[in-house]
Amino acid sequence: MKPEQLEAAKERLLKMRREVIREVQKSQEAYKELGQDGVPDIGDMSSTSYSRDMLMNLSEGQRQLLRDIDAALERIASRDYGECITCGEEIAPRRMEVRPFSRYCVECKSEVERFGE
Ligand SMILES: [Zn+2]
Repeated sequence: MKPEQLEAAKERLLKMRREVIREVQKSQEAYKELGQDGVPDIGDMSSTSYSRDMLMNLSEGQRQLLRDIDAALERIASRDYGECITCGEEIAPRRMEVRPFSRYCVECKSEVERFGE
């Protein structure tokens, strides 16, 4: 990958990272608010637990996303970015645009999904 492409990818990843962190902070605040409600009315119970589960799932997904973003930033630093970690082929630029933290080319990704990582 060309240095300017790496630079653009880095910008995009850092922007994504900031957005995820902002989302996490927002959901943490919402979570705290739910916790400060005290004992909910029986009628509200199910909706409250649903919201808590939803927030917890959300932050787990976000933690995974942050790990993926950080790993991609490391690959930029070591100049491995944009190459498939399995076969070493360059990952299609279109794919890197959609998912800038992709580690596999399309072919290897489908293998991974079929057989596990
Ligand atoms: Zn590959």
